[in-house]
Amino acid sequence: MAGETLIIGGGVVGLAIARELHKRGHSDITIVDKGICGQEASWAAGGMLGPQAESDHGGEFFDLCSESRDLYPQFAKELLAETGVDVELDTNGTLYVAFSSIEMAKLKSRFELHRGRGLTVELLDAADIRRREPFISPDVVGGLFFPNDWQIENRKLILALRKYAELNRIEIVENCEIDKIETKDGTVTRAMAADREFECESVVLCAGAWTNKLGLATAGIVPVRGQMICYRTAKRVYEHVIYSSRGYIVPRRDGRVLAGSTSEFVGYSKGVTDAGIATLREMAEEISPSLASQTPYDSWSGLRPKATEEMPVIGRIEGLSNAFIAAGHYRNGILLAPLTANMIADRFDIDTTVMPNRISATN
Ligand SMILES: Cc1cc2nc3c(=O)[nH]c(=O)nc-3n(C[C@H](O)[C@H](O)[C@H](O)COP(=O)(O)OP(=O)(O)OC[C@H]3O[C@@H](n4cnc5c(N)ncnc54)[C@H](O)[C@@H]3O)c2cc1C
Repeated sequence: MAGETLIIGGGVVGLAIARELHKRGHSDITIVDKGICGQEASWAAGGMLGPQAESDHGGEFFDLCSESRDLYPQFAKELLAETGVDVELDTNGTLYVAFSSIEMAKLKSRFELHRGRGLTVELLDAADIRRREPFISPDVVGGLFFPNDWQIENRKLILALRKYAELNRIEIVENCEIDKIETKDGTVTRAMAADREFECESVVLCAGAWTNKLGLATAGIVPVRGQMICYRTAKRVYEHVIYSSRGYIVPRRDGRVLAGSTSEFVGYSKGVTDAGIATLREMAEEISPSLASQTPYDSWSGLRPKATEEMPVIGRIEGLSNAFIAAGHYRNGILLAPLTANMIADRFDIDTTVMPNRISATN
């Protein structure tokens, strides 16, 4: 089978790159996935778009996350027009609550830090928080409000991106695991699965936590398991994503409340554990004791792709003129998807000898 561009891995990153390349006029794009597109980390995620809640440090990573978050209103609007799928961008903002004076002192210094960098953040007392979230624990002593940390329904995002591919003749090949990539004279020539071969003019590796196994780039990506549980309330009762220092709850439009997440170095083993569920229930019920009357109705896990120094690896692979990598997005791959797609498409469109990779562990 011949294809101009082969994208290996159809998670949020691969699907977003396929869309962006197509929008810029590239044709003959094939996405190949070892399972079903979007069913790995991108399915398991919480969908938070939270540069400020996730990071205390400024710098390049924070800037990338903020830049990508800013792309979301347009991204969501375009996807709705292109596919009819509403990805439920929710701009209600994120609360970060404290349960003790020690936690509150830490949040106050975060407040100073963020304000000092010119970011929008509000310092709230317990009464302020209760006004905004009536079901919050009476033990909350105060917190921060990040109005620019949002969320989307990541499963709808996957649906929208997949639909875009289907509507625009981007080929999707599923249940097909690439196990070998052939190179010749500094170019990738073919990618092979057990019973198929893909010839390609360019290849993009976006196999998430499995990217290292493809062998081309030594980006040091390892899987970090995250477990999640999900409650269901009759209607939406929480307005905001709510973090504590032990985890977060994410209220969805339809009344589901996600609670996450663990961080476990257990190789490629997926699945939830009794201990994981118990920890998440304790965390969620600490934030909102009213959840204690419910048994979570669903649970799942996913493997976050963690690269060296927790920075995503986005760019051309050193020594190969037609191979790119976009992987290692760790805790923020949903947030970073639109910017990653733009960055990879930019590198297709220009002579990269004059444009270095913006972030890359490969060179
Ligand atoms: C519990 C949890 C909560 C999270 N919450 C958030 C959040 O709130 N906000 C946020 O921004 N991020 C969050 N993340 C992180 C986010 O989910 C990931 O960073 C993102 O999904 C990575 O996308 P990806 O496309 O690189 O990987 P994946 O979604 O894992 O996709 C990789 C794809 O590659 C395929 N593949 C692998 N190997 C091969 C091969 N050899 N051949 C063919 N196909 C292959 C896989 O089948 C898979 O479909 C969370 C993650 C977890 C686990």
